Amino acid sequence: MAVNTEIKTYNNYINGKWQSSSNNEVQASINPANKNEIVGYISQSTREDLDQAVAAAKTAQVAWRKLSGAARGDFLYKVANILENRLDEIAETMTREMGKTLPEAKGETARGVAILRYYAGEGMRKVGDVIPSTDSDALMFTTRTSLGVVGVITPWNFPVAIPIWKIAPALVYGNTVVLKPAGETAVTAAKVIECFAEAGLPEGVINMVTGSGSVIGQGIVDHPDINGITFTGSDQVGKAVGQGALARGAKYQLEMGGKNPVIVTDDADLDLAVEATISGGLRSTGQKCTATSRVIVQSGVYEEFKEKLVAKVKELKVGNGLQESTWMGPCASESQLNTVLSYVEKGQEEGATLLYGGKKHEEEGLENGFYVQPAVFDNVTNDMVIAQEEIFGPVLALIKVDTVEEALNVANDSKFGLSASIFTTNVSNMLSFIKDMDAGLVRINAESAGVELQAPFGGMKLSSSGSREQGEAAKEFFTSIKTVFVKG
Ligand code: NAP
Ligand code: MG
Repeated sequence: MAVNTEIKTYNNYINGKWQSSSNNEVQASINPANKNEIVGYISQSTREDLDQAVAAAKTAQVAWRKLSGAARGDFLYKVANILENRLDEIAETMTREMGKTLPEAKGETARGVAILRYYAGEGMRKVGDVIPSTDSDALMFTTRTSLGVVGVITPWNFPVAIPIWKIAPALVYGNTVVLKPAGETAVTAAKVIECFAEAGLPEGVINMVTGSGSVIGQGIVDHPDINGITFTGSDQVGKAVGQGALARGAKYQLEMGGKNPVIVTDDADLDLAVEATISGGLRSTGQKCTATSRVIVQSGVYEEFKEKLVAKVKELKVGNGLQESTWMGPCASESQLNTVLSYVEKGQEEGATLLYGGKKHEEEGLENGFYVQPAVFDNVTNDMVIAQEEIFGPVLALIKVDTVEEALNVANDSKFGLSASIFTTNVSNMLSFIKDMDAGLVRINAESAGVELQAPFGGMKLSSSGSREQGEAAKEFFTSIKTVFVKG
């Protein structure tokens, strides 16, 4: 493509060096708030580039795994400090590259800093147990070993936090890493990797290769020298990643989509429920895997809840995420915008009532961006496509139910099971929800999209391959247990 030489090109990071791809091809990363603005160019790499990165990671792992956990953790503390110093700049890049508002981007970057510090400390925490042997002269215990080279494949919706919550535990437990970030947000990812580079990690410990999912992503899945693959993205791609990894015996972890419900019961605090439904469903333009999309409301409060919700949604200010007055930014890309518009059309065809929104914004100042109005549907039944498929946009589907039991059945009637919320003041309702809701995160009187970095994160059913990320749970994926038996 014709390149504007005044705009920076972000290269691959391989074996401690920034280098252009072997074919010198680049792709423009554009600002969804203004499609005429190029944020940067990124390499469209080849398998040859990937092979170099994997070879570097494999060589580097020999010495890296021999360091103490504390020594590896010290590097992560350094990365955290560098990222913290660059927080404003990296958050602004994120907003320009994928559209989320600046406060959201700053919050995410600050979370990245906190995750790095959390895992830096992990280098000094226990890794095993002593298990009594039936032989009284023996000592039996477990220890953990690194996997080797880990391939990290990430989506565009959290371009700082997701790469970090995979890379930090991978490194602290002695693995080396090859990252393939989403093309949509590879400039932001490159800036995160700059922080690792500045921290002086040994050559080859962390590598980044940008390029298409079908070449570099698939290349990671197929590469015989990649021992573990951690993937976050859609269920369609995730399934193929899992099958490819399984076929060659690599360990894999998949974190995929959601169709997250919120239940509002007759006894709920309605103002709180409205606020949390809006925040959980529409912040980040609905582009969170934990975003609320199905709003299941008991009939006694349905009309009142609906009125309050629509009144508030109408007030939300859509605009450029860099402007302070903006509450909701654009969709991250033209294809996301088109997906949202097509689901809005589909919902109407299926017989749901569009109460508000769902149209592309054409007002002056917004015409060059991928802006959509937040949408609220009424008269949705759970068998409709808009209640079953992940839209990944600012669309709320209201579903009326008579009882809490029916609400739970509807909430569970989904191929996904990532996050779910209930708004209720009744303890029995809370307890049934905790017991019977099939989701990896169940939240009471709190929005579906809140996540704390020190707690396990992941879903049930098609939302995950069953493993968990973050907190202590990350250890299960990024290490293997070794059972040791010693007889003197
Ligand atoms: P995606 O299309 O599945 O892409 C995810 C990553 O996979 C990207 O880096 C992509 O590269 C790469 N990829 C594409 N084709 C591939 C292939 N054949 N082999 C290997 N890798 C390939 O997902 P997305 O649109 O970026 O992200 C949105 C999805 O992520 C949603 O479904 C959302 O729910 C999910 N998500 C889940 C979580 C969670 O923790 N559960 C968190 C955030 C997001 P390119 O960018 O180059 O296509
Ligand atoms: Mg972009």
